[in-house]
Amino acid sequence: MFKGREMVVNHCDVCNGERNLVEACPECDDGTLLEDMGPVDNYYGPYSPYEEYSGEVTSDESCMHLCRCPECNSEVTIPIH
Ligand SMILES: [Zn+2]
Ligand SMILES: [Zn+2]
Repeated sequence: MFKGREMVVNHCDVCNGERNLVEACPECDDGTLLEDMGPVDNYYGPYSPYEEYSGEVTSDESCMHLCRCPECNSEVTIPIH
């Protein structure tokens, strides 16, 4: 039995296509909706050579999605529970 972080079962509704990520941009006053760019793991990966995550990693339950605002191009990481 391996209980590592390589195979985390993905309970993310957004990844499973059960719902869309709807999150307003924190930068835009008019509440522009962010575009879901997919889980952050797609970009940095669990095998990233950079082990220096700032803060603790709570990847077991929440799926971190990288979102971008089409209006101001802010990139925001949204945890999906
Ligand atoms: Zn996800
Ligand atoms: Zn914005």
